[in-house]
Amino acid sequence: MPKTITGWGTHNSSFIASVTYSAHNPMELHRRSRFQVSLLTKQQSTYNHAYLLFDKSPKRVNVSTIDIQFTTCANNTEMGLTKTVAFIDNNTTRNVICEESSITGLPGKHQMIRALNSFGPEGDIELGRAYHALIVKKGLCFDEFVRTSLVDMYAKCGDMESAVRLFSVMDCLDVALCNCLISGYVRNGMFDKAFRFFVQIQSNGVVPNHYTYSAMLSACGKLSAIKEGMQIHVCVVKTEFLSDPAVGNALLKMYMKYGMMKEAELLFTSLEEKNIISWTTIINGFYRRGDFLKALILFCSMGETGFDHNEYTYTTAIACCGSLKDLNTGRMLHAQAIKKKLALNNFVGSALLKLYSDLGKMDEAKLQIKNMEPSTVSWNSLISGFVNNEKTEEAVKIFCDMIENEGKCDEFTYSVILKACSSLPSLANCQQIHSHALKTKFDINTHVGSSLIEAYSKCGCLEDAEKVFDQLLAADVVAWNSMIKAYSQNSYPGKAISLFINMIKEGHRPTSSTFVAILSACSHSGLIEEGKKFFNSMVKTHGIAPEEIHYSCMIDLLGRANKLEEALDFIDNLPIEPTAPLWRPLLAACKYNGNLKLAEHVAKKILDLDPNDAAVYVTLSNMYAEKGRHADVEKERKLMTLKNIIKEPGCSWIEANHKIHRFFSHDKTHQITPEIYDELHKVVKQIQDSRPGATTILEENALYHSEKLAVCFGLLSLRTGKPIRVFKNLRVCTDCHLFMKKLSLVANREILLRDNYRFHHFKQGCCSCKDYW
Ligand code: ZN
Ligand code: ZN
Repeated sequence: MPKTITGWGTHNSSFIASVTYSAHNPMELHRRSRFQVSLLTKQQSTYNHAYLLFDKSPKRVNVSTIDIQFTTCANNTEMGLTKTVAFIDNNTTRNVICEESSITGLPGKHQMIRALNSFGPEGDIELGRAYHALIVKKGLCFDEFVRTSLVDMYAKCGDMESAVRLFSVMDCLDVALCNCLISGYVRNGMFDKAFRFFVQIQSNGVVPNHYTYSAMLSACGKLSAIKEGMQIHVCVVKTEFLSDPAVGNALLKMYMKYGMMKEAELLFTSLEEKNIISWTTIINGFYRRGDFLKALILFCSMGETGFDHNEYTYTTAIACCGSLKDLNTGRMLHAQAIKKKLALNNFVGSALLKLYSDLGKMDEAKLQIKNMEPSTVSWNSLISGFVNNEKTEEAVKIFCDMIENEGKCDEFTYSVILKACSSLPSLANCQQIHSHALKTKFDINTHVGSSLIEAYSKCGCLEDAEKVFDQLLAADVVAWNSMIKAYSQNSYPGKAISLFINMIKEGHRPTSSTFVAILSACSHSGLIEEGKKFFNSMVKTHGIAPEEIHYSCMIDLLGRANKLEEALDFIDNLPIEPTAPLWRPLLAACKYNGNLKLAEHVAKKILDLDPNDAAVYVTLSNMYAEKGRHADVEKERKLMTLKNIIKEPGCSWIEANHKIHRFFSHDKTHQITPEIYDELHKVVKQIQDSRPGATTILEENALYHSEKLAVCFGLLSLRTGKPIRVFKNLRVCTDCHLFMKKLSLVANREILLRDNYRFHHFKQGCCSCKDYW
């Protein structure tokens, strides 16, 4: 039945006096309504009469007079009116409208359209609805352009339901209106609906234009609908829309997205009109696919074809240089970018900074950040550059600069800097960063939390690690793993195992790293049966195939428990070829258990695989020394000299008075060296007095080991009662271990020693490792 709406303003225009809309003849209406709108546009005064449909009051609509009675007039099918009125009733919205109208006077049709068109993807839907109410009130809602803008506004704001409802009562169908809905569907991820609508409008006689095709191609890209995309490709070739750059670029993007690089390149070459977007798309596409060289070649061709490079193409090209580790080309691009005044542009500048950081050119990286307005990404690049180049103290300095310059930290910043602090390691820095994270509320972020747990655990502060873990809102598997690892490294195998059980109870799937942590917990504490059980459950229960690291944990577990034969058997029956990292724990176990014969056999195996492994020579020569076989000790040393193998020097760190102090073995470079050596001699005497005759074989050589010097420095410079934390790059030797135990008793001091393997907490003459390390 034809729907008749009468009552359009009758005062000024006879054309508008009575318009009959027929739902049966949309195209006719389309023609007529356009005519009508053009008249409306000419006769500004007709606006003032249009609203009479809803408001009998002859006075001009004053926004502040819009009231709730509005509803009573709404005896029509206008969509969402009740809702709209509710919004009008909302004071904030009302104020917004009032403000708008106080600036512009009462908005007219063009102002309305302009206002509606200004809505972006994150438009304020409430404001949009308020505009809609005003439009209804003013009677503009039958204007085709206004309604199209309304549909567009709802679609942009993501309220597709309202957009569709409004669309369905519109009598005319044109491609612009349909495009609003299609792009709305695509933008809101309703790709299926976009497709159905696309087919439907064509059967209703709407001819798609370049805008429709671009939107649909973008849908194909997102919907994994490559077949449909290719059909559209055929359509655009037939309809000659391919010459439209937007359509060509949308097709290009679609092929790129599916990794159909050949098709993309072919299409790109055949594009009649390449614009800057086409070039950017293809260069970026190859970069994303990891074909950095191709991307760089295309970058050069772009310049040769007369296109000016922009910030995006420079950014991609510089990133390609980083991935290709091609510093020279990177520097050349830098020079070009300077000429074009793009070097300090946010994107290009950050890319250059990342390039220099990644390639270890930290001076150039620092210079770059000094010259630009640094973003979080730039700060992060610089910090991680220093961290990756093992300049952790510098990294901490840059982090402080970042805070001073009011740089905004994100989770990446915290994770990287905490990693630096835990390798430094510096408890003071960790605490400072933690308090900063607390302020910015990043401490409950699961990534930052995991890094905090790891940092505290590496500083031996298990309680702090636990606190962080407990406060995490939603601990993910990484956080669980960090906490299990923390217990494992700090000699709490029981806690590690029960946390592992809880983790599974709470529905988290353990990962390969979980098993590394749990197997090390077992091996550190001689829990052989438990270890075997966990190892067997990896495949059977959790479907995780063991890797080299897990086998190595098992060999360590068996070896430490003096089950050397079983460990050897385990290696023989491995499904993989035994590697040097798999033999090493067995050699360590031979030393620990004093089995020289097997050690010689294992040493040979390791040297076959890694002839320059200094640790093998050192272990063997120490074992010979223990047995008093000095000739063999000398032989090993000569072999090392002959092969030019240098043993990594033992080095220990201690943090005191906001500074990290480093000590090597027999080190005499520290400012207060005499005091440190005096202190060492004093405590050695105290220890010997407390336990007469206490010597170990290596005592003479081991007396000035770096950790002893560091701990004595700690005794001198840290206040009484404060635990002494020392970190060492190599595994602690038996002599130093015994020394620390005794010292913790005679000096009544807690000592935390982290070597490259685990943590030792010395207290009242005992170590947390229970001498099992
Ligand atoms: Zn030592
Ligand atoms: Zn220990």
